[in-house]
Amino acid sequence: MENKDHLRYNGLATVRQSYMTEFIVACPKCQHAAFVTRDNTYTHSNGKLSCANCSHVEHVKNLIRYRVLIKKYCNDCGVAINFTIPELKEKKDRINIGCPNCSALQEFQPRNEQYQIQYKSVSNVNDPIFNLPLWLQMEVKGNLLWAYNRRHLQDIKEYVEAKLRERQTTRYTTMVERLPGFIKAAKNRDAIIKAIEKLVNK
Ligand SMILES: [Zn+2]
Ligand SMILES: [Zn+2]
Repeated sequence: MENKDHLRYNGLATVRQSYMTEFIVACPKCQHAAFVTRDNTYTHSNGKLSCANCSHVEHVKNLIRYRVLIKKYCNDCGVAINFTIPELKEKKDRINIGCPNCSALQEFQPRNEQYQIQYKSVSNVNDPIFNLPLWLQMEVKGNLLWAYNRRHLQDIKEYVEAKLRERQTTRYTTMVERLPGFIKAAKNRDAIIKAIEKLVNK
């Protein structure tokens, strides 16, 4: 056995955000591991889900919907007209509506609110783009250990294995420094490492 007593953590001073371009999730079609990716952490617009097992692919741009709202007054009788179409794939610039009071048909310019539909996962830890359950998650002593992807998991593992953990930078708090107490607790080290090894092989 290698002696790890004097092992110092010397990983890169990365923030959690820097791991958030790739997520391993449970595929919504076949429940095997699938990848959710995006080009950068500032936008979801190019987000993509792809499963190597069942070939299922989804693009975020196909999940964009519009809520179309009209809050106006009838031009003829003055009654308030409130009208909403909750989910449309395309924006509507103009819409014809009959007044519910006097039946006068008139054209309105509605407000279009853009949103993205997501999966309704029951898992507590999901990817932020499709909201699918993270693949790399496991309960350890009543707490949830999870990682976005294998690089994230590996960096957590190296930090847990290290016995000497120095402040990496004073300018910001890094991903490993923000890990919850149960992961950093020395008494949980063996249990956490065991769980991480199971996840590595999952
Ligand atoms: Zn699949
Ligand atoms: Zn009217």
